[in-house]
Amino acid sequence: MIRFHALAVHTERIHDPRVWKRLRRILGALSRKGARATLFVYPFRAVVEGRSDLAFDRIRQAQADGHEIAQHTHFYKDQQIDKPNKVTDLSQENVVNCLRRDHQWLSRICLPRGFTSGGWAVPPALYPALAELGFEYDCSARPVGWKRLDHPHMLRLREPETRRFWQSELLIIPTTHGLKDAIFYFRTGDLAAGFRGLRYRLVYFHDYDLLRWEAYLAAWVLVHAGGAWRTCGELADALKGGGFA
Ligand SMILES: [Zn+2]
Repeated sequence: MIRFHALAVHTERIHDPRVWKRLRRILGALSRKGARATLFVYPFRAVVEGRSDLAFDRIRQAQADGHEIAQHTHFYKDQQIDKPNKVTDLSQENVVNCLRRDHQWLSRICLPRGFTSGGWAVPPALYPALAELGFEYDCSARPVGWKRLDHPHMLRLREPETRRFWQSELLIIPTTHGLKDAIFYFRTGDLAAGFRGLRYRLVYFHDYDLLRWEAYLAAWVLVHAGGAWRTCGELADALKGGGFA
């Protein structure tokens, strides 16, 4: 049996000096172990706060250190992206606009292969739009049985699956664990991928979670004891049968 550990950082506040200080330490610890993570970047908070250039430089630096840069988008209406005024708008028009806006920002760094949706929202417009933008994989689904959050646009899957849109294919890889679950269910909760005995876990946290000591500690424990972390892009390659890098 092959166990594959992929680490995803939903990166929204890299422009905040306190967040960057802690995130940089976690990424540095990964690098020293020869491991890598995927930064799913939601750039729009930095844009709204006028610190887009700072976010850009830090993401470039993480990329230069070998981490994968992918896209994370929340579908908030207008520029109201913080409590108490934020409103999620999952209409086709808003979903497509938000995706394109963040994709365009990220395309100055790379063309992202992977995506994870804010709030685990998978509205009908999402996957066709991702396919059109050239994405190869998506991590917005959660495993069957995961009950912590419930809304009509959640997608729960037993294992990864491929969906076809016109000429392109999108590989859907459920995100299996949050930080806390990854610590409490250290040996359980992996998903079987259905071929070649591959089992994987895909652990995520938000960059600003690291401001809480318990989350920062959990991330340290995982980096040092949780396995050989790889990027979600490497996991996608392994699932597609490309083998392990
Ligand atoms: Zn998010």
